[in-house]
Amino acid sequence: MNDILPGEIETWQFLETTARQVFGAYGFSEIRTPAVEKTELFCRSIGETTDIVEKEMYTFDDKSSNSLTLRPEGTAPVMRSFIQNKLHTLDPVSKLYYTGPMFRYERPQKGRYRQFHQIGAEVLGVEDAKIDAQVLAMLHQYFQEIGIQSVSLQVNSLGCPECRPAYRQQLIDYLEERLDRLCDDCKRRYQTNPLRVLDCKVAGCKEATVDAPAMLEHLCNGCDEHFTTVKRHLNALEIPFAVNSRMVRGLDYYVRTTFEMVTDQLGSQNAVAAGGRYDGLVESLGGPALPGIGFAIGVERLVLMKGDEKVAPEVPKLFIAALGAKAQDEAFLLMSRLQAAGVRAEMDYQGKSLKAQMRRANKLNAEYTLILGEDELNAGCAQLKNMADSSQQEVALTQLAEVLATAG
Ligand code: ATP
Ligand code: MG
Repeated sequence: MNDILPGEIETWQFLETTARQVFGAYGFSEIRTPAVEKTELFCRSIGETTDIVEKEMYTFDDKSSNSLTLRPEGTAPVMRSFIQNKLHTLDPVSKLYYTGPMFRYERPQKGRYRQFHQIGAEVLGVEDAKIDAQVLAMLHQYFQEIGIQSVSLQVNSLGCPECRPAYRQQLIDYLEERLDRLCDDCKRRYQTNPLRVLDCKVAGCKEATVDAPAMLEHLCNGCDEHFTTVKRHLNALEIPFAVNSRMVRGLDYYVRTTFEMVTDQLGSQNAVAAGGRYDGLVESLGGPALPGIGFAIGVERLVLMKGDEKVAPEVPKLFIAALGAKAQDEAFLLMSRLQAAGVRAEMDYQGKSLKAQMRRANKLNAEYTLILGEDELNAGCAQLKNMADSSQQEVALTQLAEVLATAG
């Protein structure tokens, strides 16, 4: 779990602000849910045999012996809130987004932490493939706007309860013939969660399953048509993508369209965003039978990809250096008035030497400095120095806010 400090936080704020702007244009509103939910919510939605539920959740009993869990992901809490607040009665289509910390007990490494942050979006109430394409277009645009180009969009279809069971059985039979070549994890889960084997990072498992049957070749007519239409819309919108028939997602609730934004810049942590359709989820959690689709972006991975390209921290517009007790009091008033008017202003609070004050002005990268001494107080004006080009101009102290507002 990491602290996010000044100097880095500006990049986070940029990533969040851009998400609000882009998602806003697509008609999404923000939703905030608690960081803690009943454990049962995640077991029922994410699935008992997934990595998250099997080994990654921070679960504890509260003082009334309720089993609670720090949310490992954002979709289930949003669904819980959607159902509880009957949001479908307000609008047949809900477009929601969220940002916030998620918690998974994983082995920490680059791009993988125990508290991490996601920016996610969900659409409830639309089955049409247009919304799949919209969600992907929004994700694509977001990456453009934050200036991350080195990602590619991979899409797949995981079928539905109609066509997946037969495929699943075929995959189990296929895996059974190659059991001795699979890792222990896959040996254990090939019956309960065979699709996960296709996602295993162990080289032996990859080799053993190169020619495994793909869900894409076993889609029912409805799923096949849906996937074809999604691809058609993506082409029409000129969104670049590749079909990856081996992509499965680590959560049980996905059906039909699934997708990942992947990069080769982060080693084995190659997914920066992921999502898909979850048409049965709301109903399975006790809500109305509404289709849904969404994604989550890993913010830490975005920050890593931005690398040295940090967003510059805000600097003071003005630093007021003051000489003597009277000038310090006046500087304090001037500074306070500017701050109240929304101007980032600073001074030295400790009565240091002029040299020390100017050092601090430089360190803070102040755009302008103003030196205030006895003479300036008497005259009611002082020299305003532009630190970038060292030019000076005389300003009346009463005019300071106006002059700064028009100064570049
Ligand atoms: P991975 O295969 O990397 O474990 P995942 O399938 O578990 O990812 P999702 O549950 O789909 O990930 O979460 C969506 C995104 O959240 C991921 O693509 C990733 O960018 C980010 N993410 C997931 N787990 C972590 C983590 N422990 N630390 C940082 N980011 C994470
Ligand atoms: Mg994971």
